[in-house]
Amino acid sequence: MMRIILLGPPGSGKGTQGDLIQEKYGFPKISTGDFLRQAVAQETPLGKKAEMKIKQGELVEDEIVVEMARDRIFEDDCRQGYVLDGFPRNLFQARKLEEIDGNREEIVIEIHLPEKVLIKRLGARRICPECEAIYNLLVTKPERDGICDKCGASLIQREDDLREVIKERLKVYHQHTEPLIIYYQGKKTFHKVDGSEEIKAVFRCICSLLDSKMTKSREREVRR
Ligand code: AMP
Repeated sequence: MMRIILLGPPGSGKGTQGDLIQEKYGFPKISTGDFLRQAVAQETPLGKKAEMKIKQGELVEDEIVVEMARDRIFEDDCRQGYVLDGFPRNLFQARKLEEIDGNREEIVIEIHLPEKVLIKRLGARRICPECEAIYNLLVTKPERDGICDKCGASLIQREDDLREVIKERLKVYHQHTEPLIIYYQGKKTFHKVDGSEEIKAVFRCICSLLDSKMTKSREREVRR
């Protein structure tokens, strides 16, 4: 019954680490950004509503993302646990999450790294529009240029990874999402890892936090 919240600015590696956690522990990764991009690609009414905000690097309305998260976290595969990537993104969403699914053990992991590195990383990011795999032309290049290793689709650059939009997204992060760090520190569920290390090293740090949390929670269960 574990909720893992990955916090961190755009480009910090939340999606990549979320995928690794999913692979190792079996907790599904829930990315509101992925859901929204799918809705935009499928031109659903919700996608049309969200499209401009995403393009401009602004946050989509709380009601929309809270609804998306709520629908997903009550699916069967989330019973043992889930990993949130990109949600909550502000205090309102964080409080809503507790209202919706308050009884879970929670661990919040901030992936921290300097802004200069973020900007470089985001410019090199490519994603697969079909299976949502994430690549970085500097460190995790696909085997064939521009082609997804996992499903063979053509990779794309996210529209919001263009330079001007990146600046706006970082601004939005500082203004709305960073205050969550203080919020979660107050709840003592907060941990921080150095995101400038290579992917495997960051993942090792995350695993040791998760393993220790799970051991403690098992010990508590046994004592009950
Ligand atoms: P991400 O893939 O997490 O970087 O999200 C891409 C874009 O989707 C963001 O810049 C926002 O426009 C929107 N978005 C994703 N998650 C949320 C959220 N929890 N609240 C509001 N907007 C979101």
